[in-house]
Amino acid sequence: MNPLKTFPKGGVHPKENKLSANEPIINIPLPKQIIVPMGQCLGAPADCIVQKGDTVKTGQLIGTAKGFVSANVHSPATGTVAKVDTVMDHTGYYKPAVFINVEDDQWADGIDTTDELLTEIKLDSKEIIDRIKECGIVGMGGATFPTHIKLMIPEGKKAEYVIINAAECEPYLTCDNRLLLEKTQEFLMGVKIVMKAVNADKGVVGIEKNKASAIELLDKTIASNPELYAGIMVQPLKTKYPQGGEKQIIKAITGREVPSGKLPIETGCVVVNVSSSFAIYEAVQKHKPLIDRIVTVTGLSVKKPSNFKVRFGTPANLLIDEAGGLPENTTNIINGGPMMGKSVSVTDFPVIKGTSGILLMSDKEAQPRNTTNCIRCGKCMSVCPMGLEPYLLNREAKFDLFDETEKHHIMDCIECGSCEFTCPANIPLLDYIRYGKARTGAIIRSRNQK
Ligand code: SF4
Ligand code: SF4
Repeated sequence: MNPLKTFPKGGVHPKENKLSANEPIINIPLPKQIIVPMGQCLGAPADCIVQKGDTVKTGQLIGTAKGFVSANVHSPATGTVAKVDTVMDHTGYYKPAVFINVEDDQWADGIDTTDELLTEIKLDSKEIIDRIKECGIVGMGGATFPTHIKLMIPEGKKAEYVIINAAECEPYLTCDNRLLLEKTQEFLMGVKIVMKAVNADKGVVGIEKNKASAIELLDKTIASNPELYAGIMVQPLKTKYPQGGEKQIIKAITGREVPSGKLPIETGCVVVNVSSSFAIYEAVQKHKPLIDRIVTVTGLSVKKPSNFKVRFGTPANLLIDEAGGLPENTTNIINGGPMMGKSVSVTDFPVIKGTSGILLMSDKEAQPRNTTNCIRCGKCMSVCPMGLEPYLLNREAKFDLFDETEKHHIMDCIECGSCEFTCPANIPLLDYIRYGKARTGAIIRSRNQK
């Protein structure tokens, strides 16, 4: 095993609680109706191209990307469009969506649904990127940035490393770990495809050391076919949050620092998530659009913490039922993990491309803690992986001092929540910082448009 690496600045060690780590992936059957939001990526929602009464097949395009930062949306099932309306998604807002009455599961023409591993990459770099765009692949770690844009290397830049973010540093979540264990070869082929797309000769899988079985299996699989997986290596990382932050994993693996306000390509790196890498394999080799994903449903009071393979548009409560039902003592339902995830107010929100986990927190885990005044202990500063001053950003955001938040680099905040986690005064630092970041970002964007 290669020696452990990590990022040097800040970080915390929350309780891992990987309750579902040993639970194999279970397929969730298609429900009677699926509700497919058109907005499933960071960027503009897709334009709906179907209407009430249309019949659709599994994998058929139903929403086309609108604008540069947007992603296509495909039907996750076969059936009839009941209506095109709005649905409350995980954000609590109503968004345009296609309601499909599920009748069957017949796949659109040209999609290979077999399990056969295809190792010959026939497409060239441009064709790969076009296929990824066509299939609506986005970053599935939660950011949902359209992947084809990430792979378009700007003039004058060179991609040296493809880094696969397999850290899964969020406590509780295990969907990526299961995929690595159960779809190892497909995942590694995804890495190879990304390397070909961006013309990089090094692929590094960055993975926290607490996933020992996955590290061993990846190493063994690569060693069993060194020619096929040439250029790919596994880099174990220390178990430290937020090891999977894009800037943190680049720093840990290459020692290079992404400059403030710049993209990873400035350091010669392209970072892709595990689930996205698998989706890229399926898109490029099987022509399969992104219509499903692995979702972890978990929590200390959950009867059967699980990893489910779910078609998009399936209501979250169906997964919760499969995991043993909503525990009586649930006080908080979180979309994602406990550090970066956000609370949701309903349980029937549709699963979408960015839904990595559903965490049902009990009164034991989510006990409201008393907030007191800042005692200026500086702990939030010492754990901030971006070297920011969270106590200061919190105060400035609270009083709408957006010149100050910009001056103090609020836009560099990666919203990891380490500051809030460590604050002895229990100040909800992340809430204010997120608010300040959104407002500061809007001001910067409108200034740049003038
Ligand atoms: S950790 Fe909390 S109490 Fe300490 S300086 Fe930061 S905001 Fe203040
Ligand atoms: S200020 Fe942002 S980057 Fe720094 S610890 Fe807090 S949430 Fe993380």
